[in-house]
Amino acid sequence: MLCNCTPSVRAEIAVSLEWKILTPAKPLKAAILKTAKQPLHIEDISKPQPTAGQVLLRVRACGVCRTDLHIVEGELPQRKESLIPGHQIVGDIVDRATAELPLGMRVGVSWIGGVDGDCPYCRRGLENLCDAPVFTGYTVQGGYAEYATARSDFVFKLPTELDDLHAAPLLCAGIIGFRSLRVAGVEPGDRVGLFGFGASAHLAIAVLRSWHCEVYVSTRGASHRRLAASLGATWVGSETDKPPAELDRAITFAPSGDVVIAALASLRKGGIVAINAIHLDRIPEFDYDRLLWGERQIRSVANMTRSDARDFLKIAADIRLQPKVTVFSLDHANEALAAVKNDAIDGAAVIVP
Ligand SMILES: [Zn+2]
Ligand SMILES: [Zn+2]
Repeated sequence: MLCNCTPSVRAEIAVSLEWKILTPAKPLKAAILKTAKQPLHIEDISKPQPTAGQVLLRVRACGVCRTDLHIVEGELPQRKESLIPGHQIVGDIVDRATAELPLGMRVGVSWIGGVDGDCPYCRRGLENLCDAPVFTGYTVQGGYAEYATARSDFVFKLPTELDDLHAAPLLCAGIIGFRSLRVAGVEPGDRVGLFGFGASAHLAIAVLRSWHCEVYVSTRGASHRRLAASLGATWVGSETDKPPAELDRAITFAPSGDVVIAALASLRKGGIVAINAIHLDRIPEFDYDRLLWGERQIRSVANMTRSDARDFLKIAADIRLQPKVTVFSLDHANEALAAVKNDAIDGAAVIVP
């Protein structure tokens, strides 16, 4: 019998049939935040249903970001009941494929899960500041799960040079580290300070080295200092050591205002500190005449744009960026968060469902 639907509808039906064949009989597992400050519950969930404009992904890997920790620990207010965290998703498209996003394509999903496109910020090209943003794993379900949905216009095709485990930490830690370099106005050859050396910084240093920058790293933890030295830092010191040279630019990664002031105190005139932290304990009082005068600037880094993501993923593929990763199973999502909290691992934690 002839079908009178259009070719695109027929394709959609074929894709949904394929999904039904692929649907595993076993229940799908996810790590769920029920109550802030409590461990995640590892539970069975029903199949996520993509809505119009979304794709369904089978999750290959999901990076663990410090922001996940802020969400789970209640430092960011809970915005959704029974939340699946996780916003560094690598997955294959298994439903709602399109010509641009075919079935089986491997894509990444980041923290910025959607914008309204017509607020004053979006209209100025500042979609990272959108008035009505969607945040993956915060205002919508994320990737600590076997399957996830994502807006089709907010998934990024992943270069073949980057495998699943090494691509996952790039999707927030990497992109926002890269945006921090942009916000700090880093130019090739600059002297750049990195204050803190977790997942984001250890990716940013690779980009800085490819730009022939001198990199000065202040961080707590001997293993983080060793990692920084092995990745080509010009100088490495503890969190209380002052870099031996005046810095053109600095990026702080710790959620600590004291660290911001330490970075400011290391800058030359006209230098910029970019704060790569969604939450800070406080900003302590500081001496304006000595620390800010001379057109020094402090800037925060908020979210990311899709062009940050695309530009960074291209650079990451070109320089064959290989983050240092520690893998956790989905059943051990709480252990992965604890490892990030306690700085117990070098580089990034990645959950593999
Ligand atoms: Zn907007
Ligand atoms: Zn993040």
